[in-house]
Amino acid sequence: MRYLITGGCGFIGSHLAERLLDDGHAVLLLDDLSTGRFENVAHLEGRAGFAILVASVTEPATVDRCVAECQAVFHLASAVGVRLVVDQPVRTIETIVNGTDVVLRACARYRRPILLTSTSEVYGKSTKVPFVETDDTLIGPTTTRRWAYACAKALDEFLALAHWHESRLPVIVARLFNTVGPRQTGRYGMVIPRFVEQGLAGQPITVYGDGHQTRCFAHVADVVSALVALMDHPHSRGQVFNVGNSEEVSILELAHRVRSLTGGISPIRLVPYSEAYTAGFEDMLRRVPDLTKIRQLIGYQPSRSLDQILADVIAERCDPSRHPAPAPSSLEI
Ligand code: UDP
Repeated sequence: MRYLITGGCGFIGSHLAERLLDDGHAVLLLDDLSTGRFENVAHLEGRAGFAILVASVTEPATVDRCVAECQAVFHLASAVGVRLVVDQPVRTIETIVNGTDVVLRACARYRRPILLTSTSEVYGKSTKVPFVETDDTLIGPTTTRRWAYACAKALDEFLALAHWHESRLPVIVARLFNTVGPRQTGRYGMVIPRFVEQGLAGQPITVYGDGHQTRCFAHVADVVSALVALMDHPHSRGQVFNVGNSEEVSILELAHRVRSLTGGISPIRLVPYSEAYTAGFEDMLRRVPDLTKIRQLIGYQPSRSLDQILADVIAERCDPSRHPAPAPSSLEI
């Protein structure tokens, strides 16, 4: 099989590309290198069946050509990270909504199966624990920029499911909860790479708010296995699945664990949300996936604990040969 991976040079896309090549498939990565980095996939260049096209997912003619040349599509291209979403809301909305529309239209034209990666953000600030795929979403006001991301991704889901409903286009929606692992950058706000870099540098570990908010972190290798299995399963079509890990940790506890694993000298500094992001910023207090549905369909069981995830991220940061060189500063936000 030849797969198209939009956003293939991103953190998750690069791991997915590697996995598919290891399985004997060919991959075409479509990435505009805005948040994705060529360094993430440099080690794959030269492998049989590997190709990259540097272009935007919002260009219909390019996407049309890519979809025509492949048999199935993993659509990962998206604006990523809370910081980018808050700082560049127009780009966030346009990339998510226009990009997905373009990719879905091309998939509909050629009848290609498509797996769309969505996000646990679509549950919004609902306080229900854990989140089940059919739960109501609770998205905040349009005056709070953060919610544009959740709303845009929810619209992507509606659009994908509408294609399934109207023409039985084989679509699968994977709602990813916090995914971490080697190659993830902290540049767009992601907490684990940021804490690890701060800890290794002996700098203060910056906990936003009071640190009592919790998250569940999944290793990228577990997530990639789930995406591949969902794509392969004939009964996944037209459905939404949570993908993640249900081991819950508070951000303050996470900071303490990272500090002790990285030398134990960093102070832990509480930073008000208004200083970290912007006035009026709303954070989610708890975000726990109910994984019953995906477990029942594909037998999904995350195999890596938070401690293993942290060990893996720290090992990569300590080994420069495994850590991609920084991108040019023009990509900084
Ligand atoms: N966070 C933090 N310090 C940082 C970056 C993030 O305390 O330097 C917090 C953030 O406010 C959130 C959690 O860590 O409560 C996870 O943030 P991330 O941006 O990784 O993902 P989110 O789940 O918010 O999308």
